[in-house]
Amino acid sequence: MAQDPKDWKPATKLIRGGAMRSGFGETAEPIYLTQSFVYESAAAADRRFSGEDPGFVYSRYANPTTQMFEERLALLEGAEYCRAVASGMAAVHVALTGLLKAGDHLVAGRALFGSCNWIVSQWLPRFGVETTFVDATGLKAWEAAMRPNTKVVLLESPANPLLEVTDIAAVCKIAHAAGAKVVVDNVFATPIFQQPLVLGADIVVYSATKHIDGQGRVLGGAILGAKDLMEESYRDILRHTGPAISPFNAWVLLKGLETLDLRVRRQTETAAVLADLIGDHPKVKSVRYPGRADHPQSEVARAQMSGFGNLIAFDLGSREAAWRFLDRLNLVDISNNLGDAKSMATHPSTTTHRAMPEEKRLEIGLTEGFVRMSVGLEDIADLSRDVTGALDDA
Ligand SMILES: *Cc1c(COP(=O)(O)O)cnc(C)c1O
Repeated sequence: MAQDPKDWKPATKLIRGGAMRSGFGETAEPIYLTQSFVYESAAAADRRFSGEDPGFVYSRYANPTTQMFEERLALLEGAEYCRAVASGMAAVHVALTGLLKAGDHLVAGRALFGSCNWIVSQWLPRFGVETTFVDATGLKAWEAAMRPNTKVVLLESPANPLLEVTDIAAVCKIAHAAGAKVVVDNVFATPIFQQPLVLGADIVVYSATKHIDGQGRVLGGAILGAKDLMEESYRDILRHTGPAISPFNAWVLLKGLETLDLRVRRQTETAAVLADLIGDHPKVKSVRYPGRADHPQSEVARAQMSGFGNLIAFDLGSREAAWRFLDRLNLVDISNNLGDAKSMATHPSTTTHRAMPEEKRLEIGLTEGFVRMSVGLEDIADLSRDVTGALDDA
C-alpha cells in the first residue's frame, strides 16, 4: 500500500523525500542541469505558461533537481512549501523583502548573523522600512518595540555568535497580536533539533551552506512556510529578481540531506562533551552552550529544542589569549564556516562580526576574548587533545 511521505519518520524523509526517478531507473537522483525546457507544440507551450499544465518553463522559476531538494527539506521541516535559493543570505533577503514595503516597520533581535544585521540596519532603511533592534532574550523588549506598522519580526535562535536563545513561541504570540509575521533563521538549531513553524513562526530560513551541505562544498539557502503565504509573498520576487540556486548545488544539498540527521547528532554528542571540557579548563572565563545548565536561557532551550547543536562559544579573557588558542590548534581549522564535517574555530570580533561597531558588539556581550567553535565529525579523543593542548597554551 502506498505510504504518504508526510507519515514517514525523519530518517526516511531524508533519504526518500521528493525523489523523482526518471525513465532510466537510476538509484541516485538525477541532476537536471538545464536552463530551459522544450514543448511538444505551440499549444503545449501556451498551456505550460498559462499554468494549466504544471510543468517546468525556465530554471530561474523552478527546476526538477531543485524541486527534489525543496520537497525533501519541506517534508523534514513539516512545512507545506519550500523554495531553495542560491545562498542563506538570498533566503533572508527574499524572506524579508517579500513581506515588507516602504512605510512598514521591522523588529529584529540584536544578535544576528553579520550580513543579516547589515540588511536590517543598512539596506532595508534605504527602501523606507523602519527597523528596531531588541534584546532578543527579553519579552518586554519585543512587546515595547511593536508598532501599528510592524509587519515583520526577525529572530535567530540560538543566535550567532554567543548562542543566545529566544523564546520563539512567546515572541510569535507578541508579534501575531501586533499583526506581524515572524521569520526565524534556524541555521544554528538545524531542522533536526528545532521546528519554528510548530512553535508559531510563519517563515523559516536556512543557510543550506552550513549543516545541510555539511561538507564544505556549495552555497545554498531555503525559505519554508505555508503554501499560500509563500506563493503570495515570494513567487514573483523569486521569478523576477533571480536568486535561483544552481541545480548542481541543489543536488549536492539534496544528497547532503541524506546524512544530515546522522552528522548533526554525532557532532552534537561531541560538542556536549567538548563544551564541558572547555568549561572546566582554568584558562576559560565562561562557556556558552545551550545544553549546559549554566547557559543563561537553558530552560527555554530545553523547552523548544530537542538537541543543542554543534556550536560552542567561550571567553578566554583577551584577544591575545583567543588568538593564541586559535594559533595553537593543530587539527581544528581556523575558519568562519560552521556545520562542517571538519571542526572549525573563529574569533568573531575580528572576522564574522568585525563590521559590527564595537559598542554594538559589547551590547550583545561579544568581547574580544570570545572564540566560537563549530564541532565536526572527527574522533572525540583527537578533538579533546587538540582543544585541551591549545587551551593550556592560550
Ligand atoms: C551563514 C549564515 C547565514 C548566511 O548564509 P550564506 O549561505 O553564507 O549566505 C545566515 N544566517 C546564519 C545564522 C548563518 O549562519
